Amino acid sequence: MKLKVCGMKYQDNIEHVAALQPDYLGFIFYEKSARHFDTECILDLPKSIKKTGVFVDADIDFVIEKINKHNLQAVQLHGKESSKYCKQLKSESVEIIKVFSIKDEFDFSVLNPYEGIVDYFLFDTKGKLPGGNGYTFDWNVLNNYPSTTPFLLSGGIGLNQIDDIKKFQRSKASKYCYALDVNSKFEIEPGLKNIEDIKKFKNNLISKIMNYNVNEKGYYGEFGGAFIPEMLYPNVEELRQNYLKVMAEPDFKKEFDQLLKDYVGRPSPLYFAKRLSHKYNTKIYLKREDLNHTGAHKINNTIGQILMAKRLGKTRIIAETGAGQHGVATATVCALMGLECIVYMGEIDIARQAPNVARMKMLGAKVVPALSGSRTLKDATNEAIRDWINNPVNTHYIIGSAIGPHPYPDMVTRFQAVISEEIKWQLKEQTGKKNPDYVVACIGGGSNAAGTYYHYLHEENVGIIAVEAAGLGVDSGESAATSVLGKEGIIHGCKTLLMQTADGQITEPYSISAGLDYPGVGPMHAHLCKTGRAEFIAITDDDAMKAGLKLCELEGIIPAIESSHALAIFEQKTFNPDDVVVLSLSGRGDKDLQNYIDYFKI
Ligand SMILES: *Cc1c(COP(=O)(O)O)cnc(C)c1O
Repeated sequence: MKLKVCGMKYQDNIEHVAALQPDYLGFIFYEKSARHFDTECILDLPKSIKKTGVFVDADIDFVIEKINKHNLQAVQLHGKESSKYCKQLKSESVEIIKVFSIKDEFDFSVLNPYEGIVDYFLFDTKGKLPGGNGYTFDWNVLNNYPSTTPFLLSGGIGLNQIDDIKKFQRSKASKYCYALDVNSKFEIEPGLKNIEDIKKFKNNLISKIMNYNVNEKGYYGEFGGAFIPEMLYPNVEELRQNYLKVMAEPDFKKEFDQLLKDYVGRPSPLYFAKRLSHKYNTKIYLKREDLNHTGAHKINNTIGQILMAKRLGKTRIIAETGAGQHGVATATVCALMGLECIVYMGEIDIARQAPNVARMKMLGAKVVPALSGSRTLKDATNEAIRDWINNPVNTHYIIGSAIGPHPYPDMVTRFQAVISEEIKWQLKEQTGKKNPDYVVACIGGGSNAAGTYYHYLHEENVGIIAVEAAGLGVDSGESAATSVLGKEGIIHGCKTLLMQTADGQITEPYSISAGLDYPGVGPMHAHLCKTGRAEFIAITDDDAMKAGLKLCELEGIIPAIESSHALAIFEQKTFNPDDVVVLSLSGRGDKDLQNYIDYFKI
């Protein structure tokens, strides 16, 4: 849920509120309001904050003039503005928020003319003047909300409403609640906001109200779910009904932990990178997933899933792979358990990734080429799904990242959560600190990131940084920066952010690192992005490669190019000298040697 702070008036105060990074700041252009904004210009606010002009039945030219003058990104209309009026304003490329006031009941049919025209509705309490009355209306009225247009909840929201908001979160209507709009309850006087109270409210939203875990229906906010062909339903449903039960069994836990310890080599060290820290004048700790058996974090998930498959009585394992890393991790655990293993791989990828194909074969897996479409990862996925439909009884499909239909993203996240579980006690042991200031991970589908963040999602003082691949540059057309370029769509059975053309065809992504070369992100990360809980940073090929080499030189560690992307953030973002930054070193660079050689002409 986003936060809008409305009724800003004084320059200093605006700056202080902006520093708390709300999603919207509202400026009231209505003379009769005590919060009338009559200053000449709005400060240069961070791009992430949308400047919103609030109007009451104003002349449309007046509104347009203010949009241009103050560079507004949103317009909030509090009067009797018609749908035609809204449509006209829409051509100014601003978000349109249309306000409706509610008393004890509300006739939702008045929304109809505005559907498809406005971006958001805002529901406020009916009072003497438009806005800023300080009273909440009965939110139960929204139980009958018939629309799917997201709305802002407004009217007298203050610190005292935290519990009510929490309760509201469980209601049906909350699914469409896009943001909370606060104003008078956070004021010292009209237009002057109390910074400490807003800070408290925002932190409470993160720790008490926002849920970053999956809900019973398989959603992270609006993302996730299970969008699958009907023929796949029994397979996915069997897994959904059993995965939590199985994971909670003491025997399962014991076997999982034992294998992680004796076979994978966990716990992986948390290493204080002294020379790297010195260079960037902050405290950098590397979570050494690169030291796991098979060289990356992926094995945590495949161990978990093969044990799950066995508990469900499956004898045959299928997987899809792009670069071959997940294929190798799957073939490894199948050999370990003596189960049949079929890995689908695009024909092009088979040619590009010969060493991994050889590894899979040595481990006893059958590698089946996907010959359709672009003959890459998505086609391999289609083949795997087709196989699963045909073999519903004896086969388990091991998905390799925190993606796929529910329950996969949650199941994979829980298996990878061992990463942050270990960080917790390791950090305490080494520094005495309970929490780091930041956790950082690269994101392909998002499994190492999900595992690294998991135990910190609701710790309001831990910053979450997600690093995606910008390829040749975010605007180059050769990129995998999903949070910037992605739009809502469905891929691999879940609703998430996805790079796609205007008519919804999935765009072929590009990154120098095979593991980040994916057109979507897991639904949890889409939610972290949309809610602003995580900061997303995109890193180019060049910057990643340089950061990878720097780690070699400063710490004697050759990282996977995926992990090099995460390392590159220190060139882009400045941390405080006292900040403890824990970074997931997701894998080792052996597999990328040829890439490094070619790039640096070693
Ligand atoms: C596969 C891979 C990734 C990306 O996958 P996620 O699911 O996003 O973690 C990152 N690093 C390495 C080393 C990988 O092999």
